[in-house]
Amino acid sequence: MLCLPRKIAKNLKIKDFLKFLDKKFPGKVVFSTSFSMEDQIITHIIFDKKIPIKIFTIDTGRLLTDTYKVWSSTNKLYKNCILAYYPKYENIEKYILENGPNAFYESLEKRKLCCYIRKVEPIKRAFLGKLLWITGLRISHSIYRKSLDFLDWDNSQHLIKYNPLLKWVPVQVKEFTKIHYLLYNSLHDKGGISLGCYPCSKTIHIFSSIRAGRWIWEKKMGKECGLHANCKK
Ligand code: SF4
Repeated sequence: MLCLPRKIAKNLKIKDFLKFLDKKFPGKVVFSTSFSMEDQIITHIIFDKKIPIKIFTIDTGRLLTDTYKVWSSTNKLYKNCILAYYPKYENIEKYILENGPNAFYESLEKRKLCCYIRKVEPIKRAFLGKLLWITGLRISHSIYRKSLDFLDWDNSQHLIKYNPLLKWVPVQVKEFTKIHYLLYNSLHDKGGISLGCYPCSKTIHIFSSIRAGRWIWEKKMGKECGLHANCKK
């Protein structure tokens, strides 16, 4: 793993550490957004401070309509463009032909294969030639994210991960969003806390765990899609 100062990552303001990373690894740092409230905060910092870090999203083809609205409005607001990576059409066609369009409800294996085709494979392409991945992960998202650090090594993607909002609690996320008039998915006001693909995200009770609305038929599973493989299960 490249030597990066964890102490600086912890103590420096997010915008300053992002600038530091961009200078240290020009063109090698990327931020992946799913348009969550956390990701909108990081997007705001990057665009508002004009930090030349590439922002991209994975369009699985099954996202919520509201997610496309936030994506489109964000592009317009910052007069910038969030890049998109898509699954390979031949993989989707084969999966649908062999399993049907909603096979992810049938077994964990089929769900994971769908996540692999629609999310994991495209993100691997987005990471080609990159060294560092910025994420909006927070510890309170899930017990499987408790072991994360501000700077981590991601074994499956072979990248350093910078998780600037790691220790933020929900109230901080909401406060920042409010103070800076950030765009966010309106479903967050209707019980949608962790929003992913339409068939696999449900609105949940406010006191449930944050990722409880994902893959609700998989009661005892880790609730991870495979993008963040170093979230210990
Ligand atoms: S979240 Fe659901 S629809 Fe989206 S890639 Fe995973 S299994 Fe497929």
